[in-house]
Amino acid sequence: MKIAFIGLGNMGGGMAANLAKAGHDVRAFDLSDAAISAAKEAGCTTFGSAREACEDVEAVVSMLPNGGIVKSVYEGEVIGTAPAGAVFLDCSTIDVATAREVIGAAESAGYDMVDAPVSGGIAAANGGTLTFMVGGREEAFAKAEPILQAMGKAVIHAGDAGAGQTAKICNNMLLAITMIGTAEAMKMAEKLGLDPQKFYEISSQSSGYSWSLNAYTPLPGVGVESPADNGYKGGFATGLMVKDLRLAMEAADSANAAVPLGARAASLYEDFMGAGNEGFDFSAIIKTYS
Ligand code: NAD
Repeated sequence: MKIAFIGLGNMGGGMAANLAKAGHDVRAFDLSDAAISAAKEAGCTTFGSAREACEDVEAVVSMLPNGGIVKSVYEGEVIGTAPAGAVFLDCSTIDVATAREVIGAAESAGYDMVDAPVSGGIAAANGGTLTFMVGGREEAFAKAEPILQAMGKAVIHAGDAGAGQTAKICNNMLLAITMIGTAEAMKMAEKLGLDPQKFYEISSQSSGYSWSLNAYTPLPGVGVESPADNGYKGGFATGLMVKDLRLAMEAADSANAAVPLGARAASLYEDFMGAGNEGFDFSAIIKTYS
């Protein structure tokens, strides 16, 4: 299948390579020369603009930094250039309102489009083990699913346009809250004289269990191996968590949803990032409790 891929950064680079590995004819574009060279090495054909990459394709996949860029790439270059009937898959994490707006514009011009943000980081993008949460019409999902399968381990149709982004930001808001809760409880147990490993053994098998505690234990040497055991390097950067929490707060406002814990988590992560921790894994927030 002829597929244009726009945005070949940390995530998109590996995803485009996996589409090429699966036998697709991948037509790649990025603003960065280094990203273009890596895509060429990985078996993609490269182009000088998104517009050129999209001519004569059956699908367009994008993995871009934010909603403003997604809107300008689709409305400025992709829509009207790709052949009628092509399906568009935006895998970037962006705000729900822009996702719906761009899908509406694509549909009005005769295309199918889904929002398909991912769970999983750079290793999952490279390894083809991402989870995709997808929003859009049934027909659009049916066209998008086999393409997403080549880049991931799970593809879930969440609902109509924007439902993928909604699932992503609600999930990550919950993740931020449980990580902060886990950090607080572990440090409190330690200060009360309980061995943190004992606390892990007990709570991970009791009602306090969660992904943050059981699968991503934020204290070095305690529980499972995680970024904490690697100086909080790798994993999911605090800067990306703050990006997702800002999107979550914006969406909560627009829906008039009460999110007192989400708002507190967003503000704690903003402060943590402001203290120079943008590049560290988000579980490093436990260091603020020492
Ligand atoms: P990145 O900054 O590494 O990559 C973005 C790429 O887009 C860059 O190579 C950049 O040159 C390119 N780009 C920017 N504007 C462009 C344009 N107009 N035309 C073509 N290319 C353009 O970012 P990333 O880490 O790959 O993240 C991409 C998306 O995935 C983001 O929305 C992010 O929130 C989301 N995400 C990232 C992770 C992660 O662990 N990195 C995990 C889940 C979701």
